[in-house]
Amino acid sequence: MTRKILVVEDEAAIRDMLCLILEQKGFSPEPAADYQQALDLLKEPYPELILLDWMLPGGSGIQLIKQLKQHELTRDIPVIMLTARAEEEDKIRGLDVGADDYITKPFSPKELISRLNAVLRRVAPMAVDEVVEMQGLKLDPATHRVSAHEQALDLGPTEFRLLHFFMTHPERVYSREQLLNNVWGTNVYVEDRTVDVHIRRLRNAIAHAGHDQMIQTVRGAGYRFSTRL
Ligand code: CA
Repeated sequence: MTRKILVVEDEAAIRDMLCLILEQKGFSPEPAADYQQALDLLKEPYPELILLDWMLPGGSGIQLIKQLKQHELTRDIPVIMLTARAEEEDKIRGLDVGADDYITKPFSPKELISRLNAVLRRVAPMAVDEVVEMQGLKLDPATHRVSAHEQALDLGPTEFRLLHFFMTHPERVYSREQLLNNVWGTNVYVEDRTVDVHIRRLRNAIAHAGHDQMIQTVRGAGYRFSTRL
């Protein structure tokens, strides 16, 4: 998880403030001062989310959202629009073209982070640094620690990411290809079989208290992480 956030805002003071708040919360902000710069920064690794000002030199935030929606790789990147109070009408238009939320200026750091986490929790739960716990199995993304009933478990980096993905996307079947895209990334070339190898390692690592049974093989489809055994 890159935790990269694209910050598109032409007012330097606001842009700097946004980047500072994001850095303090462990995100990696990438500032863009105008429309073209924002477009130039939209490449691999793509941001988890875009904070987008309404009025920009070189084009509008609305135009940028429309452009994002045209491309498969950028279509699903969530966008939070930054608007001024006078732009009430525009706010509705922003949501109409596909913005996920909006924040009215001026805003507090607390409000910004809580809106951002709310959107990420919905679309990219792995980007939120929150502890996840299920049936005594606990994963802390901030400290990279995993424990089973308070007993520390030793996981490799790939197994850690795989478990984080599973725990934030429970009760759904994922194909090997989907797991590769979500856990390894879209521009990494590894064989489907690699997934099976890491699933086996993950199961072994969490088997101590029987949590390995939560990773279920779904014949002909892939894997599912479930609390229902
Ligand atoms: Ca502006």
